[in-house]
Amino acid sequence: MRLLPLAVLPLVTLVSATPTSAQTSPGATGTASAREARLLAIPSPDNMREAMRRLSARPHHVGSAFGRESAEWILARFREWGWDARIETFDVLFPTPKERLVEMIAPRRFRLALEEPVVAGDATSGQKAEQLPTYNAYSIDGDATGPLVYVNYGLPEDYEELERLGLSVKGAIVLARYGRSWRGIKPKVAAEHGAVGCLIYSDPRDDGYFGGDVFPKGPMRPKDGVQRGSVMDFPSSSPGDPLTPGVGATKEAKRLAVSEAPSLTRIPVLPISYGDAQPLLEALEGPLAPEGWRGALAVPYHVGPGSARVRLKVAFNWDVKPVHDVVARIPGAERPDEWIVRGNHHDAWVNGAEDPVSGLVPLLEEARALGLLLKEGWKPKRTIVYCAWDGEEPMLLGSTEWAEAHAEELRQKAVAYVNTDGNGRGYLGMQGSHTLEHFMNGVARNVEDPEARVSVWTRARARAIADAASAEKRQEIRGREDLRLSALGSGSDYTAFIDHLGVASLNLGFGGEDEGGIYHSIYDDFYWYEHFSDTDFVYGRALAQTVGLAVLRLADAELLPFEFRGLASTTQEYLKDLKGLLEGKQEEIAERNRQIEEGVFQATLDPRRPTVAPAKEDVPPHLNFAPLENAVAALQRGADRYAKARARLEGRAVPPDALGRVNALLVRSERLLLSPEGLPRRPWFKHLLYAPGVYAGYGAKTMPGAREAIELKRYSEADGEIARIARALEDVAALADRAAAELEAAAG
Ligand SMILES: [Zn+2]
Repeated sequence: MRLLPLAVLPLVTLVSATPTSAQTSPGATGTASAREARLLAIPSPDNMREAMRRLSARPHHVGSAFGRESAEWILARFREWGWDARIETFDVLFPTPKERLVEMIAPRRFRLALEEPVVAGDATSGQKAEQLPTYNAYSIDGDATGPLVYVNYGLPEDYEELERLGLSVKGAIVLARYGRSWRGIKPKVAAEHGAVGCLIYSDPRDDGYFGGDVFPKGPMRPKDGVQRGSVMDFPSSSPGDPLTPGVGATKEAKRLAVSEAPSLTRIPVLPISYGDAQPLLEALEGPLAPEGWRGALAVPYHVGPGSARVRLKVAFNWDVKPVHDVVARIPGAERPDEWIVRGNHHDAWVNGAEDPVSGLVPLLEEARALGLLLKEGWKPKRTIVYCAWDGEEPMLLGSTEWAEAHAEELRQKAVAYVNTDGNGRGYLGMQGSHTLEHFMNGVARNVEDPEARVSVWTRARARAIADAASAEKRQEIRGREDLRLSALGSGSDYTAFIDHLGVASLNLGFGGEDEGGIYHSIYDDFYWYEHFSDTDFVYGRALAQTVGLAVLRLADAELLPFEFRGLASTTQEYLKDLKGLLEGKQEEIAERNRQIEEGVFQATLDPRRPTVAPAKEDVPPHLNFAPLENAVAALQRGADRYAKARARLEGRAVPPDALGRVNALLVRSERLLLSPEGLPRRPWFKHLLYAPGVYAGYGAKTMPGAREAIELKRYSEADGEIARIARALEDVAALADRAAAELEAAAG
């Protein structure tokens, strides 16, 4: 809190919180200011329940009537709470099914149902007229017939295993199960191996009866439940509207033809239930699937094909539809050109109580709370921008188009982006930019867990210790002041902010105590959420408190709470991982070559279950990690110097112009981690530390240019990528030094 108004005394102190013992929750360390305590007291579970009932009352996918109504309703709430709010609309390609057919042709003929039945007692499951059928968005149109092959999760290593079994999927339709990768990777890898069609099913081992009773008796996926979802190949190109890559999909934007869109699949794809998948699996012959491939259906899992043949036919309406982003602002009183941006999407595949409404209703309670503070006389120093995104499900359409349309302004003004996307009961998950790691740990220490009555930080740390895979890992957690943030991959609306614009980002949410199997089905609805998830909405309140507090502190801090020790420590870990990855590959390939030379594969061959020996491969070369080692060391020095300078100023006055310069440097720090040219073969993705994996999808690849050069055996690219990451880290180290020098001078 500032001691005196700027006009009176041109010096401000760095203490931002006045200790008030009354607000400290029992397990929380540190204290919250009176204003923060007021904010923490506002979010109401009852309001969240009623807002969820309203926002999940009908299906609200892109282009739907209720989606439009929901955007208007959210807009009216923001205005009622004193925000300056509007709807920004973009026009995006959004295909919906015209025809869906899956037919077994041999050994016997039948059609799959492709239908999720109404559940008695669950009122919204019967809204058939408004529900989108089960499908994968951005599959191309197609009519393919071929032998059926089971490919496990459909990852590159699964195809290597198939090769060892002597099987090819050329000309085949593959049956892959959901899980282990983002779904769009499955048709992409299948097409690369020559498959002509791809079916994706939910095995009960992964989110069905293996995990508990199925809906409506329990939370797990019922026999005919289907996971809808996008299969747009965004990791290799870009998310957002496929017709306007890199620019906002405004009315006047230049558009590609659908046939030119780079991110559509190359083969037709359709998701199916395990009820529909079972007779297909039963019809498969050929070798028995490796043990790790077998699911929980009562069938022997063969890989195929034998006589099994399938026809897959899909056709879509390739319509351009509007997405309605609700964007609301509270102008900053002192630094209006520094923006704290916060978002959660409002569109769903169907009713979407869990995804996304359980994350959206805390956002609305935060907005109401900030509105109340406004009415009570508070004015944030910085501008706060709250966004309810449309079109997240098809592939981050609303957030990407908004970020692209406002790219220049965001590059100049955006300080941080805070995302949520759903919420549940349990432990706080924190992903994000490591310059915000220490800050976020501080926030989590000041919010109380509604079940354990310790801070959400204490509980998350306890979970991390209990789950740690090794003594070394436990020791690391115990020895560190802060919990590490996980790296951001993709799969939610932070993607354009962090990966394309270099805005420091956070993604937050509670979970881990309840299982569920209703993801992207008609059963993700109010009935399910009220019976099986955060039924009393106390974790909704905890999320609103956590994010609300983060936003308030970012908006009101004199000196932005960025620092560099978390980043230095994390890049040190990433460097270690990278070296370990290379050494592991070298050893694995050398050993395999040796076994090939020794004749191990021939000598162990079982003639009744023949396998094909792998081919010899070149052992990966040694790479030059020295530039990265030097850069990480420089970053560590800069980080320590900045931390020391920052600590010396705690509670002391800093001239506002120096403060302004340091804040500007801190905002720029994440931008320096971008490369203007972007990652190899995917220039939209510009961040050199975090990216979604080309063959992982949502999973993060850290130091992606170098890592994927090793993983994908593009060794000639690796040294150049290592040097590029090193240069960016050297730049951040220099920035930390400059910021430290400013603070040192200010301290006198
Ligand atoms: Zn979502």
